Amino acid sequence: MNCPFCDKENMRELVLFESKFTVVAMNPFPATKAHLLVVSKEHVGSITELSDEQCSDLFILAKKVASIIKEHLCPKGMNIFFNEGPIAGQTIEHVHLHVIPRNNGDGLKNFKRKAGERQLLREDDREMLKRIFA
Ligand SMILES: [Zn+2]
Repeated sequence: MNCPFCDKENMRELVLFESKFTVVAMNPFPATKAHLLVVSKEHVGSITELSDEQCSDLFILAKKVASIIKEHLCPKGMNIFFNEGPIAGQTIEHVHLHVIPRNNGDGLKNFKRKAGERQLLREDDREMLKRIFA
């Protein structure tokens, strides 16, 4: 297996702290300063493969990371997200959440679309969502 998050030698230099199921690591290729990764200790590709306990632990550490970054670096905002699957930009098939501090002029783009490009929620999609979550 060629997974950088499972490579203990690689992670030794990057891990900042850890809990029972999760590690917090520096991103060696940060999108912005202090771009951190919150990584499941178990090698699974999707958030849906984590137990509730693993998932809770991961989010608790994400909250801790966000709090520490806020307190010490005072960014204007943060992006906190998973990429799930190659189409969504997942490059390492091992569950990890990104915490990316944001500031004016950091060069990153948002998902925000121009007003004219926005689409209303379609009625059949609304019904489909209600049905699958019922
Ligand atoms: Zn892995």
